[in-house]
Amino acid sequence: MQWALIGASTIASQFMIDAIRAQAGNRVASVLSSSAERGKAYAGEHDIPEAFTDLDEQLAQDVDAVYISTTNEKHFPQAMAAIEAGKHVLCEKPLAMTVEDAITMVRAAEAAGVQFATNHHLRNAGSHLKIKDLIASGRVGKVQAIRVAHAVYLPPHLQGWRIDNPEAGGGVIPDIVVHDADTVRFHLDEDPAEVMAMERADSLGQGVEDSVMSVWQMPSGVTVQTHEGFTIRHAGTGFEVHGTEGSIFARNVMTQQSIGEIRLVTESGQETVPFSDHNLYTRAVGLYVDACAGKGTPAATGVDGVKSLAVAAAVKKSATSGARVAVDYGGI
Ligand code: NDP
Repeated sequence: MQWALIGASTIASQFMIDAIRAQAGNRVASVLSSSAERGKAYAGEHDIPEAFTDLDEQLAQDVDAVYISTTNEKHFPQAMAAIEAGKHVLCEKPLAMTVEDAITMVRAAEAAGVQFATNHHLRNAGSHLKIKDLIASGRVGKVQAIRVAHAVYLPPHLQGWRIDNPEAGGGVIPDIVVHDADTVRFHLDEDPAEVMAMERADSLGQGVEDSVMSVWQMPSGVTVQTHEGFTIRHAGTGFEVHGTEGSIFARNVMTQQSIGEIRLVTESGQETVPFSDHNLYTRAVGLYVDACAGKGTPAATGVDGVKSLAVAAAVKKSATSGARVAVDYGGI
């Protein structure tokens, strides 16, 4: 497949260009940037044949799929243009600024017959695939509660629009809560029904929240507690699943790397559970490429992206209103 990168982003340079090139017969044909100079430099640095500043010109080339990793407010118009041009779309999270726009993207892709997916990487991690197996095989019994620790220190090179630009979709809720929502949905195969949240701007956020804690009620009765942040330097990340027969303690697994450890505690004692260390993004792109060829489904579909955004929107609404909020999935 010929790919066009929409956005001269950090995530593409750190992970996604390599993940695309790791797929047999896949090639990065071009990159789009709002700056001709930055686009040209980015193309040169990553050995990409062409750089564009005009999306229509880029889409008019021989391109099968686009990967969108611009700032969040651009995802909707760029995805709609790519769908209209008949391209497959792999879009970064959050899919859009509103649930309504995200649903419009998913419906437009369905109508156009193109493959649309969300780049939620965590459900591709060996650690999370193993946790899902442990839950499904009954090792913890009936799940009662989940605790997610995803408060990190945002590296200085990413302290741009994320901490001071609400119009670009800045803030820790659109950035990280969506990932946690997707991961919880992945493990429990159900969608959060209600949330209660508190947010604040601790030390980095200017006009946006940089810290949030929330509690989610799942339809099965499972309670989920999450903590997302940009300002916590030394906590590490974690994902805990507590059930009637056991508890899973996974450390450093809310990350882009194939790292971390899983400990299972049951009546018979403690064990460390090994898992695959494959690259998360390479797996995600591989499943996406297969889906474009009519084989299987992407790791995280467009509907998954709508639902993670809906949970984040409810968390924001609860944090700003102080009320308990029912998650509105817009009927999808
Ligand atoms: P970046 O800030 O690196 O890139 C976003 C945009 O910022 C680019 O499209 C680019 O605009 C512009 N930009 C980049 N570098 C510069 C610069 N030096 N000066 C001025 N503008 C610049 O964002 P990220 O890569 O961190 O995130 C991009 C998207 O990917 C977001 O939607 C984010 O939520 C998502 N993401 C997803 C991850 C995942 O694991 N799924 C992980 C990280 C991010 P232009 O293209 O016009 O040049």
